[in-house]
Amino acid sequence: QLAANEADHWHLYRNDTDNIMKKRLKLAADLHQAIENNEFYLYHQPQIDLRTNSIYGSEALLRWDHPELGFVSPEEFIPVAESAGIINEITEWVVEQALLHQKNILTMFPNHKISINISARDLNKRELPVQLLTLLTELNIKPSLVVIELTESATVGDSVKAKNILDDFKEMGIKVAIDDYGTGYSSLAYLSQLGFHEIKIDKQFVMNLEHNKRDQTICKTTIEMASNLDAYVVAEGVESEQIAKILRQFGCEIAQGYHYSKPLPFVDYCQWLQRYKKSA
Ligand code: C2E
Ligand code: MG
Ligand code: MG
Ligand code: MG
Repeated sequence: QLAANEADHWHLYRNDTDNIMKKRLKLAADLHQAIENNEFYLYHQPQIDLRTNSIYGSEALLRWDHPELGFVSPEEFIPVAESAGIINEITEWVVEQALLHQKNILTMFPNHKISINISARDLNKRELPVQLLTLLTELNIKPSLVVIELTESATVGDSVKAKNILDDFKEMGIKVAIDDYGTGYSSLAYLSQLGFHEIKIDKQFVMNLEHNKRDQTICKTTIEMASNLDAYVVAEGVESEQIAKILRQFGCEIAQGYHYSKPLPFVDYCQWLQRYKKSA
C-alpha cells in the first residue's frame, strides 16, 4: 500500500502525464489543418561570417500560430508531427516556402545562403532531394546556396539511409550541415564518414562560453577538428559580442544568435538585412 504522500505524487504524476498526452493528441489533430488554414510561418535568423562580419545567410525556422493556443514551440510540435506521420508534408511546405523566400532575398543579396531543417523521418522519403532540385531549377537558384540541416541524432538511427540521402543532396551540389552537434553521442570521426559541409555546435555549449572552461574546450576542439575535415563551424546561441570574439579567436567561421537577431518574420528579416548592410 502507498503512503499518503506517495499516492499524492502518483496522482499528480498521472494528471501531468494525462495532460501532456491530451495536449499532444490535440496538437496532432490540429496539425492536420495547419497548412490549409495558413497557420504556419517561416521565420529567419541571420548567420554572420565572423571573419568579415558580413551576412552569410539565414536559418529558416518554422512557427505555428495555433488558433486557440497561440504560438506553439517547434520543440513541442515537430516531435508530434513526426509521430503523427505528418512531418513529410510539413517539410515539403517548409522547403517550398524557404526557397520562395530565398529567391526574393537573392535579388538583394546574391550570395545569401538558406539553411533548412529536415527531420530524421524525412530520410525515409527518397524523393526529397529530387523535389528540392526541381524547385531549385524552376526558381533558378544555385544549389550551393542551400544548406540542409540534419540533427546529429538523426544520423545515428539509420546511418545507411542517412548516408544515401545526404549523398543525393551532395551530388546535386546542395550543402549539408550536422545540427545540434554535441547533444548526441556521435564522434566527429563517425560523422565525417557521412561527409558534411557545416557542423553546428549546439547552443548549450555556446551560450555561457565566456564563463565556462569546459565549453571553451569543447568549442575549440570541435573547431580544430572541423577545420581538418574542411568543414565550416556554425555556432548557434551567440548572445554577446564577447562570445563572438572568443569564437573568432578559436577560428569559428559562422555565428548565429540573439546577439545579431532573434528569428524574424520574413518581411522583418528583409528589413534587418538592409539595416545591417547599411551599418556595416
Ligand atoms: P535548431 O535547428 O537547433 O534551431 C536553433 C534554435 O535555437 C532555434 O529555436 C533558435 O530560435 C534558437 N536560438 C538561436 N540563437 C539563440 C540564442 O542566442 N539564444 C537562445 N536562447 N536560442 C537561440 P526554435 O526556432 O525554437 O527551434 C527549435 C528547434 O525546432 C530547431 O532547433 C529545430 O530542431 C526545430 N525546427 C524549427 N523549425 C523547423 C523546421 O522547419 N523543420 C524541422 N524539421 N524542425 C524545425
Ligand atoms: Mg537547425
Ligand atoms: Mg541547431
Ligand atoms: Mg539546437
